[in-house]
Amino acid sequence: MRVAVIGAGASGLVAGLCASKNNDVTIFSADEKLGKKILVTGNGRCNLTNTAGFKDAYNQDLSSFFERYSNLDVISFFNNLGLEVYVDSEGRVYPISNSAQSVVDVLLNALNKNNVKYVYEKVISIKHDEIFKVVTNTHEEVFDKVIIATGSESDLLDEMKIKYKPFSLSLVALKTKENTQSLSGIRLSNVAARLSFMDKTYVEEGEVLFKDKGVSGICIFNLSAYLARENNYNAKLYIDLLPKFSFENLILMLGNRLKLNIKNLYEFMTGLFNKKINWYILKILNLSEEKSIKEITEKDIENIAKTIKNLPFNIVNHYENYQVKSGGVELCDLTSNLEYKHIKNLYFTGEIVDVDGLCGGYNLTWAFVSGMLAGEDD
Ligand SMILES: Cc1cc2nc3c(=O)[nH]c(=O)nc-3n(C[C@H](O)[C@H](O)[C@H](O)COP(=O)(O)OP(=O)(O)OC[C@H]3O[C@@H](n4cnc5c(N)ncnc54)[C@H](O)[C@@H]3O)c2cc1C
Repeated sequence: MRVAVIGAGASGLVAGLCASKNNDVTIFSADEKLGKKILVTGNGRCNLTNTAGFKDAYNQDLSSFFERYSNLDVISFFNNLGLEVYVDSEGRVYPISNSAQSVVDVLLNALNKNNVKYVYEKVISIKHDEIFKVVTNTHEEVFDKVIIATGSESDLLDEMKIKYKPFSLSLVALKTKENTQSLSGIRLSNVAARLSFMDKTYVEEGEVLFKDKGVSGICIFNLSAYLARENNYNAKLYIDLLPKFSFENLILMLGNRLKLNIKNLYEFMTGLFNKKINWYILKILNLSEEKSIKEITEKDIENIAKTIKNLPFNIVNHYENYQVKSGGVELCDLTSNLEYKHIKNLYFTGEIVDVDGLCGGYNLTWAFVSGMLAGEDD
């Protein structure tokens, strides 16, 4: 069979490699560099999968796909190409080289051994009859099977009039109504971020980073996924600065601080958090740093404790730099091998499918697994 793979990202390269075992494969790449996006993943280290379970990691149940190719199969797939990996304390899998380039290199070596051809041009249309005619600005070629792995670029879907769920940005920093400039650059570790959105509450524990007009960090990226899936970036965010403390214990701890040799609220707060956070908490409560220790009331302590447990922000939008897009060709239109139910021998893999996952290697896992399934299907 003559197989065309459109897109040379994580999914396209794996699909092309799997298809090339028994077929004549050509990969079309709009980028000059093959596997370009893989190189920026995991801060250049490529978090290629995760050994922890997949529960709640995706926008939908993918167990029927993962029963056939799991995260462990992704690891063996890459091991067989020569890539050695390690697993960190949270189950995230990285190449031992700590370089995403190694992932691209082993894929390209294997593709070259299987004589896969490349066309470095953007595909502008795909005509289909019994066979497919793949068209670029200077090139036209016919194929028996086409795998579309174009990430979140929807031009071809529009051109081919293929129905899909509109894309929205996920794993993205979020903008707040509040001006957070005074907190910009502060990184909070071991906090709990609670998103209240459409009558539901989502909690993520870990790190939050303040930006000029919003919040970032892995907790926030993961919470953004729930907003992206509804394409609605209006929500309430509460940061629990001390999730290990119950409210009662926090009141006790704050009460004990009144017994210290301190003269005002500024000194009362000093030693709790970064002083910009201390200032922000008092600002929200309209309390002066100068307020004398003798004037601090039980109500003040209670309000400070409530704010420490629920530092409030109004989410109003997202930033532009994202890791994945939510949306794409819906799974109900695809077979268990990712073949489009309405056009025989046309497949979709990776991010172009309406599958999005949280941080931790889940998106690449989907890109690889869907690429394997579509590439191998004859
Ligand atoms: C900064 C960053 C860090 C990330 N880190 C991680 C991580 O550590 N772990 C993880 O699991 N996920 C991570 N992700 C997400 C992950 O990169 C994606 O889920 C994954 O790359 C999707 O693979 P894909 O092959 O579907 O799409 P892509 O990798 O986007 O590849 C699609 C390719 O198709 C090409 N293309 C598009 N249209 C055409 C056309 N018409 N003709 C020809 N070619 C075309 C594009 O140029 C592109 O090269 C990260 C993403 C970003 C941006």
